[in-house]
Amino acid sequence: MRRRITIFGATGSIGENTVDLLTRQGGAAAYDVVALSGGRNIARLAEQARDLGADLAVTAYPELYGDLKAALAGSGVEAAAGAQALAEAADRPSDWIMSAIVGAAGLVPGLRALKHGTTLALANKESLVTAGPLLLATAERNKARILPVDSEHSAVFQALVGEEMEAVERVIITASGGAFRDWPIEDLVRATPEQASSHPNWAMGQRITVDSASMFNKALELIETKEYFGIDPARIEAVVHPESLVHALVGFRDGAIMAHVGPPDMRHAIGYALNWPERNELPVARLDLAQVGQLTFRPACEKRWPALRLAREVMAAGGLSGAAFNAAKEAALDAFLGGQIGFTQMAEVVEDVLDRLSRDSGLTNDVISLEKVLEVDHLARQTAADVVRTLEP
Ligand code: NAD
Ligand code: MG
Repeated sequence: MRRRITIFGATGSIGENTVDLLTRQGGAAAYDVVALSGGRNIARLAEQARDLGADLAVTAYPELYGDLKAALAGSGVEAAAGAQALAEAADRPSDWIMSAIVGAAGLVPGLRALKHGTTLALANKESLVTAGPLLLATAERNKARILPVDSEHSAVFQALVGEEMEAVERVIITASGGAFRDWPIEDLVRATPEQASSHPNWAMGQRITVDSASMFNKALELIETKEYFGIDPARIEAVVHPESLVHALVGFRDGAIMAHVGPPDMRHAIGYALNWPERNELPVARLDLAQVGQLTFRPACEKRWPALRLAREVMAAGGLSGAAFNAAKEAALDAFLGGQIGFTQMAEVVEDVLDRLSRDSGLTNDVISLEKVLEVDHLARQTAADVVRTLEP
């Protein structure tokens, strides 16, 4: 049976890797591509839609509708634009949807897809961080499956095949340490966006690359682990592993540890979710362990990376604190990229926003509805902007 496929964020790093795999596995001849979405890169979105014979292409930006329509002229691909069009694209019947928009903007299309019982390959970790319980409940109610695409979570998912959750003692998430793992801590205050935007091991979008340098990416992933697998935060650990070859480890109550090992290539995790429950051949490099020589690990220092401490606080608080944390982080990242604040001030902004919001409005014990999540997201961004204005870069 030909599968119907939709990709949100098709023009991004995860999206391009997904398109690459679909193309290698037969492209338009093998799949019915329902919809592809992108942002400002209209030429590339139109090219992907033509190549894969998509029914619909959507840009997130309404002002680019005319450009997209022109780029698709004569192709038979329908054009649409804006947040509403994105949500509607998720309503089109599909069997497998890749959620690879960056940021909280990925939440609504993913939720809409789950309401239709569609399998959701979830790269957009922000969905689980901001609204984990809502996402899982929506999936359960509609018998939809969520397959993790973040490499660490795909690794844990694979290590758990055939296992009982009761037997899991600990989950260890590895972190490359990002661009500044070997810098003296004192120098971090002077780190520039350009320096933070180059990752030692992974080729990814700019935002997640900077989040790797600050460890906000790992902070999001710890919360993502708690939400997706339902694991007690005390059992979730982070460890720095500079080679990025071990993606995660699961420790069981008999003392065994299962590690997932492979090259840093997102096509493995994407391909696993695409072909699940089968394993197909994938175009990832094969490791030569003798060549690799050694795998090293070091503690993930919360002094160097305060984002990890903040993640612990968010996991303990639960409720809407994940939504506040993510939105404050996104706003702080924008301020850093825009030169308004320094690298180490991102964590200060996020901490201040969490303090203010938990004091003023209370983030725990709230029922997590989409409306509440969007409200807290908005409030946290506003509060972050207020905090940024009080800081000297
Ligand atoms: P990216 O910046 O390369 O691509 C993002 C995509 O989302 C693009 O298609 C862009 O046009 C679209 N987009 C951006 N803002 C949007 C908005 N407001 N509304 C709608 N669409 C918008 O990002 P990426 O690195 O591919 O990451 C995508 C997601 O996957 C993120 O949540 C990230 O944390 C997660 N992830 C990425 C990697 C990786 O290797 N790149 C690994 C694990 C998880
Ligand atoms: Mg990851």
